[in-house]
Amino acid sequence: RPASLLGAADIRRLAAELDLRPTKTLGQNFVIDGNTIRRIVAAAHLDPAETVLEVGPGLGSLTLGLLDAAARVVAVEIDPVLAARLPGTVGHWRPERAGALDVVLGDALRVTDLPHPPTALVANLPYNVAVPVVLNLLENFPSLRHGLVMVQDEVADRLAAPPGSRTYGIPSVKAAWYSTMTKAGVIGMNVFWPAPKIASGLVRFTRREPPDTAASREDVFAVIDAAFAQRRKTLRAALAGWAGSPALAERALRAAGVDPTARGEVLDITAFARIAEARVPAAD
Ligand code: SAM
Repeated sequence: RPASLLGAADIRRLAAELDLRPTKTLGQNFVIDGNTIRRIVAAAHLDPAETVLEVGPGLGSLTLGLLDAAARVVAVEIDPVLAARLPGTVGHWRPERAGALDVVLGDALRVTDLPHPPTALVANLPYNVAVPVVLNLLENFPSLRHGLVMVQDEVADRLAAPPGSRTYGIPSVKAAWYSTMTKAGVIGMNVFWPAPKIASGLVRFTRREPPDTAASREDVFAVIDAAFAQRRKTLRAALAGWAGSPALAERALRAAGVDPTARGEVLDITAFARIAEARVPAAD
């Protein structure tokens, strides 16, 4: 009788069966420890009625845990070998839950259609694309209300960083457009196969309304990109290219109530939205 969650021996057996060579490019580090899965699922605070979006189910370690805690799981996997194997794994370990799983073969950076609208995102993300995946999913799936993701520990700190802190940067401020993010724990390297070289961090998020602004999200994100591209410069200098000239940058900053000699790293998302809205056309 199969144990309830996948352990190291199960992962080894599945990998051997598939002749799997985990690739770094796809961030393939599989969780081999049931307690870690229980911890992630508990930290996700799922409601039993929810549809969970899982990105990168891999060999199914987290998928099995999610199927115990939610009504449905929609799993988006880019690797065709892993996507093809997942229904069989769930059929074996959770036969009674097999109908609650949809596997979508595809790239989480591009996916726009899912068979069910997800309310939660829970994923052990491929590390090299973790931030764009989270931002794209929050943008493309307004039904996502909350979630918990595992990312590199350093990226977890950045996503959850408040304005003015050392790790505050583009990921922190863009994530704040969609949600509030908080760090929910650190996970060591030895619960994975193969073991990554750095620790992982858990980040929990809850969707919030974007700042009330007449500027579009694209315009606000353009200001953020410009401000952090030269983060040591004053905003007046860093935003000169974006505004058309240092004087126009200064006008927009003053109209937004922001000190032109400040640096971008002290501003919250609302201030960036005000600056985007206050932009004066260069032809003016
Ligand atoms: N969830 C599994 C676990 O916890 O053991 C595997 C997590 S592993 C860190 C990342 C997974 O994401 C791999 O299965 C990889 O093939 C998949 N992946 C990588 N890039 C992806 C992308 N752009 N879209 C969807 N899946 C992706």
